[in-house]
Amino acid sequence: MAFGEFDLIDTYFTQRSKQRPDVVIGVGDDGAVVSLPERSELVIVTDTMVADVHFDSDTPARALGHKIVAVNLSDLAAMGAEPAWISLAVTLPEVDHEWLTDFAAGLREICDYYGCQLIGGDTTQGPLSLTVTAHGVVPAGSAIKRAGARPGDWIYLSGPLGDAGLALAARQQKVKLTNEHYKRVTDRLYFPSPRVALGQSLRGIASSAIDISDGLAADLGHIIKASGVGARVTLEAVPLSLPLTESVSQERALELALVSGDDYELCFTVPEARRGVFDTLIAHSPTKPICIGRITSETGKLKLELEGEPWELPEAGNGFQHFSQRK
Ligand code: ADP
Ligand code: MG
Repeated sequence: MAFGEFDLIDTYFTQRSKQRPDVVIGVGDDGAVVSLPERSELVIVTDTMVADVHFDSDTPARALGHKIVAVNLSDLAAMGAEPAWISLAVTLPEVDHEWLTDFAAGLREICDYYGCQLIGGDTTQGPLSLTVTAHGVVPAGSAIKRAGARPGDWIYLSGPLGDAGLALAARQQKVKLTNEHYKRVTDRLYFPSPRVALGQSLRGIASSAIDISDGLAADLGHIIKASGVGARVTLEAVPLSLPLTESVSQERALELALVSGDDYELCFTVPEARRGVFDTLIAHSPTKPICIGRITSETGKLKLELEGEPWELPEAGNGFQHFSQRK
C-alpha cells in the first residue's frame, strides 16, 4: 500500500513528544481544543519559510525543523508570551523519509525544550514550504507591544548581531572564515535561540520590544514608528561576536549587524524609572542585555553614531522586504 498523507502525519507529526495537560484535543480531529488559564490572553503569531526564498535547498532538515519553530517563538518572546501550542502547515515536494525524520526531530527537540506542543496542521504536496502558527499566553493586559517607547527610555539588545548574516555571506563565498568561526556562525543561522525566558521576564518592565528578524535598523525603526518617537544608537556599544569582529572590518561588521537580520535577538526599551528593577532582573539572568542607546523625542529619526560621529547606513540598508524592487 502506498504511503499516503495520513501515514505521513501519523509517522512524523503525531505525538511522540511531551504532552501538555491543557491540550484537550490534539492532532487527529478536525480541530484542536485547548484550555486557557483564567485571566489570560492568547498571543498568536505565524511565520512561513519558503525554499530558495528564506533558506537554501541544502539546509539540513533538522535545522529547518528547529528554525521554523524558533522564529515563531522569537515573535512570542518579543510579545512577552509564554509559548504553549503550535500548528504546522508543510508543503513537501515528495515523501523523503530521511528528510522527514530529521525535520520532525528538529521540530520535536525545540518544542520539548520550551514545553510547547504540536496540536495540528496541514500537509500538502508542492514546492517546499513551512508555516508554523504558535500560540502563547500572557496575563491579561501584559503583552509587550512595539508602541510604548517614550523619550528617555534606554534601548537594549539581548545579544550579538550579525552572525547569521556573516554565515550567509560565507556560504555565498563573499567572505572567508576559519573553520571554527564558520561552524559557530552557521550554528547561529541554522539553530537560532529564541529569547523566550527573557521576553517573559520583561513583562511590566520593558516599554516596548521587537525581535530582530530584519536587522536592527529596520526593527528598531518599527519600534520608533509605532511609538511615535526617535532613537539614538551608539554603534560602538552594539554587541558583535568574536567570529564577526575577527573576520571582517568594523564597517562591514556594523553593516551586517544593522541590516542583515535573521539573528532573533530582542531589542527593547526600558524606562529610567524601571532600570533598577531591570538591572536586578538581569543580574540573575543568563542572558545579559546590552544598552545601545536612548529613545529621543525626534519623531521617526533613527540616529546612528560611531565614536561621536554620525554613521550612514549603506544603500538599500533597510532590511529585507518581499515585493520591494531595488531601483
Ligand atoms: P482535514 O482534512 O480535516 O483538514 P487533515 O487530514 O488535514 O484534516 O488532518 C488530519 C489531522 O492531522 C488534523 O488533526 C490535523 O490538524 C493534523 N495534521 C495534518 N497535518 C499535520 C502536520 N503537518 N502536523 C501536525 N498535525 C497535522
Ligand atoms: Mg486539512
